[in-house]
Amino acid sequence: MPELPEVETVKKILKKTLVGATITSVDVLRAATILGSASIFQESLKDAKFKNISRKGKYLIFHLSKGLVILSHLRMEGKFYELNENEPNSQYAKVVFHLDNGHKLCFDDSRCFGILKLSKETKYLEDPLMLNVGPEPSEINDIDDIFNKVKDSTHPIKELITTQSLISGIGNIYADEILFECKIHPLTPGKFITRENWIEIVESAKKILEKAIKQGGSTIKSYHPGKDLDGKFQSKLKAYGKAGEKCPRCCDILQFIKINGRGTTYCPKCQKKKGAPVRVAIFGKIASGKSEVLKYFAKVGYPTISSDEIVSSLYKEKAVTAIIAKRFNLPFNNEVDKTVLRDYLVAHPKDIPVINRIVHPLVKERIEEFFKAHKNNDIVVCEIPLLFESKSENLFDYIIGVDAPKDVQLDRLQNRNKETSKSLKMIARNNSFDKNKNKADIIVNNNSDLASLKSEIDQIISKLQEYLDLFPSLHLC
Ligand SMILES: [Zn+2]
Repeated sequence: MPELPEVETVKKILKKTLVGATITSVDVLRAATILGSASIFQESLKDAKFKNISRKGKYLIFHLSKGLVILSHLRMEGKFYELNENEPNSQYAKVVFHLDNGHKLCFDDSRCFGILKLSKETKYLEDPLMLNVGPEPSEINDIDDIFNKVKDSTHPIKELITTQSLISGIGNIYADEILFECKIHPLTPGKFITRENWIEIVESAKKILEKAIKQGGSTIKSYHPGKDLDGKFQSKLKAYGKAGEKCPRCCDILQFIKINGRGTTYCPKCQKKKGAPVRVAIFGKIASGKSEVLKYFAKVGYPTISSDEIVSSLYKEKAVTAIIAKRFNLPFNNEVDKTVLRDYLVAHPKDIPVINRIVHPLVKERIEEFFKAHKNNDIVVCEIPLLFESKSENLFDYIIGVDAPKDVQLDRLQNRNKETSKSLKMIARNNSFDKNKNKADIIVNNNSDLASLKSEIDQIISKLQEYLDLFPSLHLC
């Protein structure tokens, strides 16, 4: 869908060739494209001369003699083609303006969402279509105006900046670019967008739109500003349409989500989500006390979930059991026998990635369901030992790593009735913590003193609560 830079480009192109031409007749090939009476549209515009073309938000406004104005919105696929009178109409021409200079102007619209509406020079600004168009970024002088309108909104910022009545001209492409530039997560509720954020959003919107106008807009899918013409800004896009590619700022992988049905691309590292609930992940060394940390969060009243428990319950599900039994040719009926599976995987280590590919996406799904069920809580906590191995880190806002000295690990494993040699082997095998611990927001050191462990968690909780209460003046770590 064309946005402000694209419509501005169309305006510039049409202005060059159209101003000065007089309409000799109008063919309406699809009456519904005209808002209002098609016959009045045809009659009134006969002998009217194009005097100027302007733009408001994404509307093109044709100013004609006789005090007439045509309001036009291209919507999804609308285009204007100026052709020689002897050429055939464009493929999806809906309205054709015949001109006195040997040309004709086709309003072409394959999707039929575009509109044309006749109005008057003295009245068009009061037309409901125009009254719904908010100021463009370059017209916003008073930040407080927009800030006050949305300071209590729970709608995501991506939705707010594409709401034309609030701020006009920004659609899906430039919204992704602007939020990427400002390092704001597209799902951030309006109430968490500060006055300073708004200053930044408006400034970066101005800059990005201006640059895009200079490049003739972005040609994405079927937008072409004129016949055989393409915009050039798409080569400058940093986020839009680039999900799965590396973030040009931090090299993390850009993610794709849908917000109100609109595809949205953002960087999970540069654009951290703000506001409740804070989604906390706990990972750590084997037998380091991750479960104690999780239990403590539960005890003080926060919703918790353990990915190990999710896996156990998945293994009791018939459908999951059937997939695993079939894949590894194991004799499971109603549920997966964990000991049998473990022995099988020890004997067939090559199959470990295979089972991970089956189980990890299901675990992620359950964690997301858990988040949804607790979306009104301040803090939600998940123990997930294979956080990085399962590439789940982007599900979380805050990561706690639990570290413990080897003797504490050994002690704890022996308490679980493991022999010393077996315990040492397990500790050596599960050594990915050191590789990933720098990705944690905080490391908790469990020296087997439960009281000090609890006090460390209390400090984390008060920090997170403080963050939620005083947002945005405080930032996580
Ligand atoms: Zn990034």
